[in-house]
Amino acid sequence: MPFGFKVDEEGASRHNALMLYRRFPRVDDHEVSSLGLGCMRLPVLQGKSGDIDQAAFESMLLAAAEAGVNYLDTAYVYHQGRSEGAIGAALDHTGLRGRFTLTTKSPVWKVKEPGDWDRYLDEQLGRLGTACIDFYLFHALSTERWSTVERTGGLAAMEKAKSDGRIRHLGFSFHDSHEAFIRIIDAYPSWDLCQVQYNYVDRDYQAGLAGIRHAAAREVGVVVMEPLRGGALASPPPAVRQVLGRWEKPRLPAEWALRFALERQEVVTVLSGMGSVDQVWANAAVADAARANSLTRSEMAVLDEARKVYMSREKVPCTTCGYCQPCPSKVAIPDVFGLWNAAEMFDVRADRSSWYRSGYLSEGTGADACTRCGVCVTKCPQGIAIPDRLAEAHDYLTKE
Ligand code: SF4
Ligand code: SF4
Repeated sequence: MPFGFKVDEEGASRHNALMLYRRFPRVDDHEVSSLGLGCMRLPVLQGKSGDIDQAAFESMLLAAAEAGVNYLDTAYVYHQGRSEGAIGAALDHTGLRGRFTLTTKSPVWKVKEPGDWDRYLDEQLGRLGTACIDFYLFHALSTERWSTVERTGGLAAMEKAKSDGRIRHLGFSFHDSHEAFIRIIDAYPSWDLCQVQYNYVDRDYQAGLAGIRHAAAREVGVVVMEPLRGGALASPPPAVRQVLGRWEKPRLPAEWALRFALERQEVVTVLSGMGSVDQVWANAAVADAARANSLTRSEMAVLDEARKVYMSREKVPCTTCGYCQPCPSKVAIPDVFGLWNAAEMFDVRADRSSWYRSGYLSEGTGADACTRCGVCVTKCPQGIAIPDRLAEAHDYLTKE
């Protein structure tokens, strides 16, 4: 029993009074909880992302185990590189090693040469304090990062890691256009897992529902991330609250969002980046009641209505298809529009402005690098006046 937890004699999918379990299509020997613990928003000390509150995290881990959660997701870079180490230490202190399926991700953008794949993997095994990682993912694949994987022999390195037992299963997490998702899924026939952003607002964003179906048809297990859009869907604006409040029974906004992600039978587990014991129990209670295909038409209609309200707040109709790329001046057009839209739709302007400054302006890929050459404009299927809208986005995201 490689994953250390029991399947009951009847093979029932219920292991714990507070959890439902699902299977990866290509993994026969275990089931995972339909709620997974994402370890990128762990409790921290004095607001410092790299300073994880280890005692509080261990309490969360104990609560998660008690609630039946058995899936942990992290990455090399989470919490400024401290998340994996915190997990390794917590599993030892709590004696819960073996109760959880461990998933982590390789920092693809740091890989420069073939030997880097092994170097990062071995470092991650050390941080997690294990000889084997259950699911190992290429982190945040895009067209550009997939070319890094291809150029540096990433798949060959991972096949070797599988054969020598350092990883059990291989997958990728994803942030790019739907078309890029299809290319990557179809490029390798042995993916075990893909991790995609999916929630009731981003139904058709990036991989989208069509991508989820495509993966499932190829027996690739789907893990959903950002079911609450970084927490934004848990505290919606008043107009969205009003729509959700029309439903006959009281239901918290976070519950609506989690139920939407759990509704798809193609989805194996839904990750939530939880930060407290209370969140663990609250989300576990939702996951316990949320079977696939259980939302009624009228419940889906409520979510469609809420989605329309969010979409009406969108600043620019960019679908992040990426057809306008590459820009000769390196402007990250879809990303800039994505930040602008998210800032307005989810009331998170300060957060996205800081992201824009640190991730784009400082890298020379912000809207201010646009020379108005016009190359992108004819390529945009949405007919967006890209240079003009970029200038607006820049003003919005840099306004004090
Ligand atoms: S108009 Fe601006 S954003 Fe578009 S390709 Fe030219 S420099 Fe890049
Ligand atoms: S600006 Fe147009 S072409 Fe570029 S990603 Fe957005 S929708 Fe696609």
